[in-house]
Amino acid sequence: MQVSLSEILETLKPYGAKLVAVSKTHPPEMIMALYNAGQRCFGENRVKELEAKYEVLPADIEWHFIGPLQTNKVKYIASFVQLIHSVDSLKLLIEINKQAIKHQRVIDCLLEIKIAKEAAKQGFELEDAIATLADPVTPTLTNIRIRGLMGMATYTEDEIQITHEFRYLKKGFEKIKERFFADDPAFCEISMGMSGDYKIALQEGSTMVRIGSLLFGERL
Ligand SMILES: *Cc1c(COP(=O)(O)O)cnc(C)c1O
Repeated sequence: MQVSLSEILETLKPYGAKLVAVSKTHPPEMIMALYNAGQRCFGENRVKELEAKYEVLPADIEWHFIGPLQTNKVKYIASFVQLIHSVDSLKLLIEINKQAIKHQRVIDCLLEIKIAKEAAKQGFELEDAIATLADPVTPTLTNIRIRGLMGMATYTEDEIQITHEFRYLKKGFEKIKERFFADDPAFCEISMGMSGDYKIALQEGSTMVRIGSLLFGERL
């Protein structure tokens, strides 16, 4: 099943949430079709693929990186990436900061929190994200800006479980906000919700949904 861009935007509107159109595996022409319909924010999960698309597509696209990111690959996207959703270690934050300094820019980041029961899912345990924020090194990273949290719920039909996982992320966000970012309005993003669960995510306080297959069809 596919849903049109305008229909998804209508659903997001009452919540004031932003759409990250997840274009991974889909060719530039398909991205251009949504671009021509007004969409500017796209998400990719592989560095090579993102670089290749960045080179051939309009410069005013806002590229978000949403996949696992190796420290040695940060340099390839540091000059242009708008938001990295998938930061899961202090080491990675330090490297993003280093590359951001090289390019004389500030790179926005989200800390990815493990909220799913599935073992394979990436991300910090909530306590480890808190420990990273409390680490004396973190406040010295002048060229990163931590904008919020990201999480991926378990891939399941069980809506109660998904609801609980999103609720856990929202609670974690509030806890972190109060402790580390009480005076920082830039810490305001909760990236949660994909094709199968974005309506639940919106109800649970998502500010950014990452939607791929519902917009683009099955992945190639
Ligand atoms: C692929 C992907 C999405 C989009 O998934 P769909 O189910 O196709 O909407 C969202 N977030 C992340 C991190 C992804 O890797």
